[in-house]
Amino acid sequence: MSDAARGADAVTEPQELTAAGSLPAVWRDHAIREPRRPCLHDPKTGWVSRGELADASAEVAGRLYAAGLRRGDRVLLCAPSGAGLVAAHAACLRMGLVVVPLNAALRRPEVLHVVTDASPRGAILDDPEMRSWVLEAAPGAVVCTAAVDLPGGTVPSLDDLSGDEPAMLGYTSGTTGAPKGAVLTHANLLAGAEALRRAWGWSRNDRLVLALPLFHMHGLGVGLHGTLHAGASAVLQTSFDPETVIDTVRDHGATLFFGVPTMYHRLARSERVADLRALRLAVSGSAPLPADLHRRLESLTGLRVLERYGMTETVMLVSNPLDGDRRPGSVGFPLPGVQLRLQQPGESPESDPEVPDGTPGEIWVRGPNVFSGYWRRPGAGPDARGWFCTGDVGRRDADGYLYLEGRTGELIITAGFNVYPREVEEQLADHPGLAEVAVAGRADEERGEIVTAFVVPAAGRKAPSVADLRAHLDERLARYKQPRAVVAVEAIPRNALGKVQRHLLGKVAGEPPPAT
Ligand code: AMP
Repeated sequence: MSDAARGADAVTEPQELTAAGSLPAVWRDHAIREPRRPCLHDPKTGWVSRGELADASAEVAGRLYAAGLRRGDRVLLCAPSGAGLVAAHAACLRMGLVVVPLNAALRRPEVLHVVTDASPRGAILDDPEMRSWVLEAAPGAVVCTAAVDLPGGTVPSLDDLSGDEPAMLGYTSGTTGAPKGAVLTHANLLAGAEALRRAWGWSRNDRLVLALPLFHMHGLGVGLHGTLHAGASAVLQTSFDPETVIDTVRDHGATLFFGVPTMYHRLARSERVADLRALRLAVSGSAPLPADLHRRLESLTGLRVLERYGMTETVMLVSNPLDGDRRPGSVGFPLPGVQLRLQQPGESPESDPEVPDGTPGEIWVRGPNVFSGYWRRPGAGPDARGWFCTGDVGRRDADGYLYLEGRTGELIITAGFNVYPREVEEQLADHPGLAEVAVAGRADEERGEIVTAFVVPAAGRKAPSVADLRAHLDERLARYKQPRAVVAVEAIPRNALGKVQRHLLGKVAGEPPPAT
């Protein structure tokens, strides 16, 4: 196997990354060693120490156990970022429950889909509407807020987990449009956090400004797990505001910031952006960081943002180097313990050679970070030897840097959020003003892409406006999935099989092709 396939770091054996067994085992050791060390800053109540977090999560675990939840049970989790949410999350992982993070923006049909698919036995949700939807589909579930206001109890075992036990079910939309649950084991989560600790030199002295939502791999698997794993600290924020981030860097002596490109766009517009130079490391991911924004940030702050590439199914897999050239437009090299291969579409890493440097290929990944499979979908996910086809297309330059070129599927990434066109099309199909509709991404400087509806109006009707579509979708789809632009066309381009030819949508509308 070539060094490129093995990873830039050809030294780390995959089993080194998972030797500690599970994240909770590492967290327990940190809490025992230095219980009073500050760990999380809650937006309302201030600092919580490692010992306080350990005690709070043990207490919550006792209550969940007394309510009847047992190892392997799935528990939905969604609340604003704060120490309460983290204690609930840690409690679930420590007692062997499987956390199912839910995006706070999901609407009723989206929540019902997850409930029906995951069959949760518990739900820790701050939003009363969301709790009522869960109870509709799972009437017997234990349902509470992030305060976990349930009677107390004692849990027989904490932090005693084997690496192959499931820890999280991360819902992510496949190209089919219906979100699937990626089963991440305790070993996967640990390997992801340990690889980042090594690659980014993450230490107990680091302090992260964590303004990313904690229902997504970026905020949860990278920001929160990485912080707790390194014994470091994080300042939690319930939403992103550029001025607050800059204030926090100064007021809390932060060393790290992780963001999606849209956040960096907004930071670059602040008059005080130069204050970010106090950071040790700024990381971007979830969507492409435009090379010119990378360069602009460097000239404004002196920071060379480190771009990395990850996904729900694999935690993180590729990163620019901490020491060494961070190349604008590139996501870098495989992380420690991660194997990567670029294959011709339709070929497999088992039997076929990689594409040559400079040629785009489908990205396959293998390593201790790669999930075990999709929940209740046998056969989908990694192959028998652990290789997983990411659906992303990339090419390597002669120095081994990876550049992402696009996706084999049709995912739109808008402001760091993933939107699958088919899901939006399905909800627009019964709009009375539309004869036909197709959805695609269109390049947008600030958001990367914007969800765009290409519509054929119903006979005798004018094309609906963005506001009309929103009124139709508000109860059905999260806001970030709703179209921000409408383009009227005479016909939707389709191939012989009737499949929408998304790459031609811009052409029929007489404008440049949409970004896909
Ligand atoms: P998710 O599962 O929501 O984390 O989405 C994963 C997808 O986001 C990947 O398969 C990529 O298509 C995309 N992605 C993640 N990081 C980057 C990046 N740095 N540049 C471009 N796309 C990215």
